[in-house]
Amino acid sequence: MMKLYVAGGCSEHGRNSFLVSGEHTTVLVDAGKMKEKPDKPFPELSEEVVRKVDYLFLTHSHTDHTGAIGFLKKLGFRGKIVASSATLNLIPELKGYETIALKDRAVPGEEFFLEEDLAVTWGRAGHCVGSVWYSIRAEGRTVLFTGDYEEQSLAYDCDAIRGRRADLAVVDCAYGYEKEDAAEHWEALGAALDNLVHTDRPLLFPVPSHGRGFDVIRLLAERGVETVLTESLIREYQDSTNREFWLKESFTDAVKKLKKRDIQDFRREFETAIAEGKPFPESCRDTAILVRDSQLVKEANRHIAVGVEAMGGRTILTGKQDPASFARKLFNDGAADFFRISVHQNIEEMRRLAGRNHFKKIVPYHCREKLTFPEKEIMVLEPGDSVEI
Ligand SMILES: [Zn+2]
Ligand SMILES: [Zn+2]
Repeated sequence: MMKLYVAGGCSEHGRNSFLVSGEHTTVLVDAGKMKEKPDKPFPELSEEVVRKVDYLFLTHSHTDHTGAIGFLKKLGFRGKIVASSATLNLIPELKGYETIALKDRAVPGEEFFLEEDLAVTWGRAGHCVGSVWYSIRAEGRTVLFTGDYEEQSLAYDCDAIRGRRADLAVVDCAYGYEKEDAAEHWEALGAALDNLVHTDRPLLFPVPSHGRGFDVIRLLAERGVETVLTESLIREYQDSTNREFWLKESFTDAVKKLKKRDIQDFRREFETAIAEGKPFPESCRDTAILVRDSQLVKEANRHIAVGVEAMGGRTILTGKQDPASFARKLFNDGAADFFRISVHQNIEEMRRLAGRNHFKKIVPYHCREKLTFPEKEIMVLEPGDSVEI
């Protein structure tokens, strides 16, 4: 008999971690850290269980999926780590562990064997560079993990999950009851940008690392907007492992046309304007600025936000704001707009995905809302719960 144990990530946001165990199989999918609850940041896993884990599968590099690797290490984790090479290259805590890069074993959609009775199929999940979904087959059962999943990214390629059979699927449902789906979000943001660009006012986009920033770049490139990218974003693009594989060709083509404004020039002009007591340099009107600081934690970026507002410009937020953040404050003060860029699914998108596959049981994850479903195959679980596969 196989079993899924939720160590974290169901009915909460963060510390995603799922244990799949059977007679001779013990694998863990993701080991995340929860920012929201500092008293309970790590998955509910005991030393005894962690020592038994043979493989840790990582879906992608974000902290809510990998931030507990140090915690596992402390509990005596000695297994091997399976992930895309792009993900492996982004996580420093892996030193000393044997790692298995997916692309070295199989192409997307093709099954490979880790053990005689442990087979894996993977594909790109469209969420960020290196993000993947897994289908894991062992002891006569198949469990599918979508990971953080988005089929309609403008930047990241996705090997859409179609026609797959699984006894149980753990499916991204982070947006819960939110009504708009990815297509509607794109439409809203696109329409807003059409009104805001080339109106002689600056726009600021605070974006997270490894995620929505690339989608924003494409939208700006397609609209011919002069764009300032901070050094960290330029590095993120240049350093992405196998970026041609993870990024859409249409994205790469659009980026080639991006009207890039030099960041050093921008900073110089900005600093001069500040020194002269002016809030924002005239020459930086009609410019979009991307900073890799989604919550606007850094003083320098807050400075830019204030300058943008003083010039009649807007700060455009594209994802969740932390309650105590400067980004949220701007939004509450009416100085920022919020247009979501989908990097996850809502309930309807989860249902749609289920309808295109054959999942016997479905476990929604990544949503902090209390969810209820009329369908008896959809199981709402909590950390500490187990279900038979
Ligand atoms: Zn993520
Ligand atoms: Zn996540």
